[in-house]
Amino acid sequence: MTGPLLAVEQATVRFGAVAAVDHVDLAVPEGEVMAVLGPSGSGKSTLLRAVAGLQPLDEGRVVLAGRSLDGVPPHRRGLGLMFQDHALFPHRDVAANIAFGLRMAGWSADRIRARVAELLDLVDLAGYEHRRISTLSGGEQQRVALARSLAPSPRLLLLDEPLGALDRPLRERLVGDLRRIAIDLGLTVVAVTHDHDEAFALADRVALMDRGAVLQVGPPAAVWQQPTSRRVAEVLGLPNLLTATVRGGRAAGPWGSVPVAGPDGAVTLHLPRQALGVDDAGPIEGVAGAATFRGDSTELRVELAGGAALDLLVAPPAPSPGTVLRLAVDPAAIVRLDR
Ligand code: ADP
Ligand code: MG
Repeated sequence: MTGPLLAVEQATVRFGAVAAVDHVDLAVPEGEVMAVLGPSGSGKSTLLRAVAGLQPLDEGRVVLAGRSLDGVPPHRRGLGLMFQDHALFPHRDVAANIAFGLRMAGWSADRIRARVAELLDLVDLAGYEHRRISTLSGGEQQRVALARSLAPSPRLLLLDEPLGALDRPLRERLVGDLRRIAIDLGLTVVAVTHDHDEAFALADRVALMDRGAVLQVGPPAAVWQQPTSRRVAEVLGLPNLLTATVRGGRAAGPWGSVPVAGPDGAVTLHLPRQALGVDDAGPIEGVAGAATFRGDSTELRVELAGGAALDLLVAPPAPSPGTVLRLAVDPAAIVRLDR
């Protein structure tokens, strides 16, 4: 196979007048973990359901391994699905839940037993075969759901906010586990999430989605450092966005002005935290706000005239709240966004 394992081509889903998915193109090579990151309502679940065959497309198509999935029912697509409401059977045991699809596919009891044991090992639940679902913690249930979705060795695993219901420390651990399992098995994964930390920790590449459209696709570090528009920066949750007007090589706002290359006009600037420092000779004026102790550094919020704010890292002790101060920025690190 030469092309990507999964190709979504001009996929469009309309609900009434609204395009929940609007001419989306996406290509996922074999072995890649792709995260689709976007705010709630941006069309992530609808896109995933269309790939799974659970949602008909109004336009476009889904191609798996070079073959159009038009007219192929969900259970014939060779996909593993894990959605937020993982819908395990609560009164049956772990083994019965994982084996469900295998039994439907006519596997023998011996083969099923061996496969279930192998999967439980993979998700760190060895020996849990006869536990009832209702006696498991949320994180353990999530692992069982993952094992179930992997049981038939799918070519492509689709995850929809798989960890959404869990608390943060558990999510972080499971994201790490998911990534390890994906790499170990050479899995191709499309995971949708509204959480940028989760997307970055999980994915080789991130697709930013907003209002049904994919705005930018790239490795996490590339989209984080070089967003193509203000909306991308907002969807990413990038801090330190300032509205400014460029004239003659300087971008100005009520907070001061900084040197910026490029033509005159209205822009958004992104000032990375690590490019900022407190400096009496700096061009940006602000007032110290809350400081958050982060172990080896302190994060300081600085409120600017005009309602914007900047976050930066300072060596303790942080200036006390209300202190008027100035900030310097490394001009080379300023990101200019024209849209
Ligand atoms: P996300 O998963 O990113 O939160 P969804 O794909 O669930 O977004 O929804 C995208 C948009 O489509 C939302 O405005 C939602 O209300 C709408 N939508 C989703 N499913 C349906 C449906 N079955 N009928 C009508 N509108 C829907
Ligand atoms: Mg959703």
